[in-house]
Formats: sequence, structure tokens, C-alpha cells
Amino acid sequence: MDYQAQDKDAAFLLFDVFHADESWAQIEEFSDLTPDLARAVLAESGRVASQVLAPLNEIGDTHGCEWNDGEVTTPPGFKEGFSELTQGGWLGLSGNPAFGGQGMPKSLGCLVEEMFWAANSSLYLYGTLTVGACLCLDAHGSAEQKKTYLEKLYSGEWTGAMALTEAHSGTDLGIMRTKAEPQADGSYSITGTKIFITGGEHDLADNIVHLTLARIPDGPAGSKGISLFIVPKYLPNADGSLGERNTMGSGSLEHKMGIRGSATSVINYDGAKGFLLGEEHQGLAGMFTMMNYERLSVGLQGLGSADLAYQLSARYARDRIQGRSVTGPQNPDAAADSILVHPDVRRMLLTQRAYAEGCRAFALYVGMQLDEAKYNNNERAGRISELLTPVVKAFLTDKGLDGAVMGQQVLGGHGFIKEWGLEQIVRDARIGQIYEGANGIQALDLVGRKIMRDGGGLMLELLEDMKATDVDEAYKGELIEACDRLARSTQSIVARGKNDPHLPGAVSVDYLDMVGMTMCAWVWALMASRAPDDDFGVAKKATARYFFDRLLPKTLGLERSIEAEADAVMEMPQALFSPA
Ligand SMILES: Cc1cc2nc3c(=O)[nH]c(=O)nc-3n(C[C@H](O)[C@H](O)[C@H](O)COP(=O)(O)OP(=O)(O)OC[C@H]3O[C@@H](n4cnc5c(N)ncnc54)[C@H](O)[C@@H]3O)c2cc1C
Repeated sequence: MDYQAQDKDAAFLLFDVFHADESWAQIEEFSDLTPDLARAVLAESGRVASQVLAPLNEIGDTHGCEWNDGEVTTPPGFKEGFSELTQGGWLGLSGNPAFGGQGMPKSLGCLVEEMFWAANSSLYLYGTLTVGACLCLDAHGSAEQKKTYLEKLYSGEWTGAMALTEAHSGTDLGIMRTKAEPQADGSYSITGTKIFITGGEHDLADNIVHLTLARIPDGPAGSKGISLFIVPKYLPNADGSLGERNTMGSGSLEHKMGIRGSATSVINYDGAKGFLLGEEHQGLAGMFTMMNYERLSVGLQGLGSADLAYQLSARYARDRIQGRSVTGPQNPDAAADSILVHPDVRRMLLTQRAYAEGCRAFALYVGMQLDEAKYNNNERAGRISELLTPVVKAFLTDKGLDGAVMGQQVLGGHGFIKEWGLEQIVRDARIGQIYEGANGIQALDLVGRKIMRDGGGLMLELLEDMKATDVDEAYKGELIEACDRLARSTQSIVARGKNDPHLPGAVSVDYLDMVGMTMCAWVWALMASRAPDDDFGVAKKATARYFFDRLLPKTLGLERSIEAEADAVMEMPQALFSPA
């Protein structure tokens, strides 16, 4: 599947829109990171994405993974592709330099990750789980644990997996049953079954480090009694070499709608040896380090799908001739005009593009907040990134699927046929809305926890900052209106939510959508105001105009629906949801 990395747009966002180079200059760790070096990183990651990962995307879908007596074989070429990814040091791009990471900013990392996701989401999943495991180990591991695991994970010699879900315990992790019994040597014996474990077993690396949630007997009930363990497939010897095989393994592979090159296993733990990571009973907090990273990353997966779908459908539309322009033939020598003459085809392509480019800028903004929080100890930036992480996860994955389906529509019947690639993107993009906390749960986190907790205070502050941004007059008025609209909805939810416990949950998905749209309005105003006077800038301004005229007005409807009381969703008696 042909994929063209968006390094030009990435550099425009970094340097012309968000002035990342000025922020980096304030941070000691990035003193060597010049714009030229960042451009070189983007160019090289673009090469790996388009020339190494993208050619394996369809192969991964066609072959899928194979399970044989507990061993999993990944699709042809995946080993070589993964090895290029790891040998290029890409998994350690933003990793801790003390253990072989490259210490690059998350802002740059976001743009690189989007390329890998777009080019081959199944293959990149093995990488992103590893990067997330590194973050968690770096944040919560002992010195010994960091020394044993981090270098091997950053280098991709070993990979990471995240094991939370059980058959009866998905969103509600408090009811999980996998148990961890303390042993005399300080380790724990882990017993239970996890399902849906991405990269839980495969043939791409020598060892797989499962960060596993389990319950220590006699601990508190519910989510307060869950602890986090390192459970390696092979137990490392003191010198770091591989020792004994742990008593755990893949019981089977799930048969999935998409991301078929990614091995999703049932993992059985049969008294497996595990090592506590962090404090007893603090496992969920520890796992959140990994999950917050993964949530941002899964948002980028959605963005990658949106961009790839746009690229394939725009390319198709340029060549496809069908019908005539309503103002008369545009290409009289041919049997018909390009479908690009039809307003509705343009509507679909512009919608895809407006969301893909808007979401890229939005995600980068959040990535920059993470850098500010981590390297400049900027507490407010940390809170902004926490507030917006569920929006990045859910909004970008929603737009990823929408963009893929719209791209499919641009191709007409060919969109339904495998050889054109769009149907695979639709199947692959769907999971982004479900895993890493279903999108409904992200919306609940945004509204039920974050907005209700501080009375919407941080969101209202952020909206004031956005209104005060220096942007062209052409966009200023509509941006201010959109921010005011979101501020009204925020205040209304906070006021009504205090009296009706169902209200936040009833309106949260619409609210999250409105936040995503308003963030897009802000970044589109910024992008259009900073766009150069060349074709790239003309396209930016035209797409911005489309966003403001045709997409942003959808927030009027969202405001209206948020104003409805929760009764509309709560009044139907539970029994009546059964088929009559
Ligand atoms: C391909 C794939 C890969 C995965 N990879 C991993 C992995 O690597 N590691 C791992 O641990 N897990 C993994 N998962 C599991 C995934 O994270 C869960 O499926 C997901 O979190 C949802 O849990 P569930 O399937 O049990 O759905 P449920 O929790 O049963 O939810 C069903 C529906 O109810 C809603 N719901 C549930 N509770 C509430 C609530 N309190 N308020 C409002 N709505 C609610 C949900 O939003 C959802 O729409 C993977 C799943 C798949 C399909």
C-alpha cells in the first residue's frame, strides 16, 4: 500500500506554527536538537515508514499470524521490517538516554509515530507496546529492574506487552481475578488467564516482557487491591542473558476483524514467576503511566488511518473519470471529467483532509505539553496534557474510522474491493475506538473525572488562551465564537452534573466531540494564519475555510444536544431494551 510520509506538514507544524525549536532551546536536554536535525529525523522515519513498513501492510493483512502449539509466527517480512525499526533506534527515540534511549522530545516522537502507524499499524503495534512498557519501567522500576530490562526493550531485542484484560473484566479492572502469591525469594507466583493481549506471543524478539496486573491475596477489594508485575517469557539471568522459560504462554490467537498482522493472544499464567513493579496494590496507578502513553499513541493510530485513507482516495479521485462537471466538460477530450469536478467528492476529500491535518496539529500540541511538563516541570502543561489525552485518543480514532469510510466512498465500488486498500484501512482503524479504554470511557474520563473535578476550570482557562491567540482576522471571530460555545457547554454540564449523576455520562461523547472540533478550529486558525504563499499554503487556507464553513458548524448541534437532560437516555426501562 503506497504511503507518503507527511514530513513537510510535520516540519511546518513544528517550526512555523508551534515554534517547537524555541521551546526546545529552553530545555537543556534538547540543546543539540536543531531544526535541521529534526528534519533529518522526519525524513528518515518517513523513509522507513514508506519503504520498509508500508510494503508489508497488505501482506500482514492477507497472511495474518499463525498459532502452533503455543508458538506464534508473524506474517512474512514482519521480522525483517521489525528489525529495521529496532536497528534504527526508533523504539528508543524519546527514551531515557541512560539506558540507550535517544532522549528526543515527544513532540517530534508524535510525528514519527504517526508515520509508522499509517504505514503499518499491525507491525507498529509490537513497537508501541514496547515503548509504553519502557515508560512504565522507567517511571516505576527499581534501579535493578531498569538495568535488566530497559536497554533490551529500547533496542527491540525484547518487546513489551500489557496484560490487563480478562474474559469477565475489561473496562472494570477492579473485578479481575488473576492472582499473585508472594514467594519466599521475594518474587510472586502468577496464576490466571488474560485475553486480547497484543504482542503477548510472537517471533519478532528473543523475549517478551509482560507487564501484568494481578491481585495479591488478602489485599483490598476492587481496583485498590491490584498490583503490577513484570512477567517475562524467559527469566533473565543475573548477567542479562536469557534463563529458564517462564510457566506462561499463548493459549490461542484471537481471529480479528482487522490489524491481522498483530498477534492478539489469550495468555495463560500457570504459577509464572513475576516481579513486583512499584508498590503493592498501586498497580493501576503504575499501569496508567503506560496507558496514558498508549492512549496518545492510539490516537496517532487513528490519525495515521485518516491520513493513509486520504492519500489513497485523493490519488484515486485524480485519475477516476466519471460524469461531467455541471458547468460543462472540463476535459472535453476524455470520455468524462475527473470525479474531482463533483462538489460531493470534494466534500468527502476536504473533510478527510481537514480532520487529518487538524488532528495532526492537535496531537502535536498535546505532545508539546508533555515535553513542557516533563522537561520544564511545567505543572499546568502536565494538567493540560492529562485533560486532553482522552480527547486525542477518542477524537482521533473516531476521525480515523470516519476518514477511512469516507475514503472508501470516494472509490465507489472499488472501495469495497480488497486490492485498493481502503477496505483494509476501515477494518484496521476500527479497533482504535475500542482498545486502550473504549471511546465512551475516554469521554467519561474527560467529563466525569476531569471536567467535573475542577468545575471545568482548566478547560475554561485553556479556551481563554485560545481566544487570545494571534490569528488572522478571517478566522478570529469564528474561533472566539467556537470557544465561547464550548465554554457555555462546559459550564452547563458542571452546573447540571452536580444535581444529576447521570448527566455527565449522558452527554460526555458529544462533549468530547465538541472539544475535539474546537481544538481543530484553533489549530486550523493557527495553520491558516502561518501558511506560506505557495501551493502548500493555498491548500492550507482552502482547507481551513472548508473546516470553518462546513465542519465547525456541527458544534451548534452538539451544543444543543448537550443541553438535553439525561432523562432522554435514562427513561427507557432496562427490561425494554430486550427485543420485543
Ligand atoms: C484487538 C484487541 C487488542 C487488545 N489488546 C489488549 C492488550 O494488549 N492488553 C489488554 O489488557 N487488553 C487488550 N485489549 C482489550 C481492550 O482494551 C478491551 O476490549 C477494552 O478495554 C474494552 O473492554 P471489554 O472488551 O471488556 O468491554 P466492556 O468493558 O465489557 O465494555 C462494553 C461496552 O460497555 C461500555 N462500558 C463499560 N463500562 C462502562 C462504564 N462504567 N460506563 C460507561 N460505559 C461503560 C464500554 O464503553 C463498551 O462500549 C484488546 C482488545 C482487542 C479487541
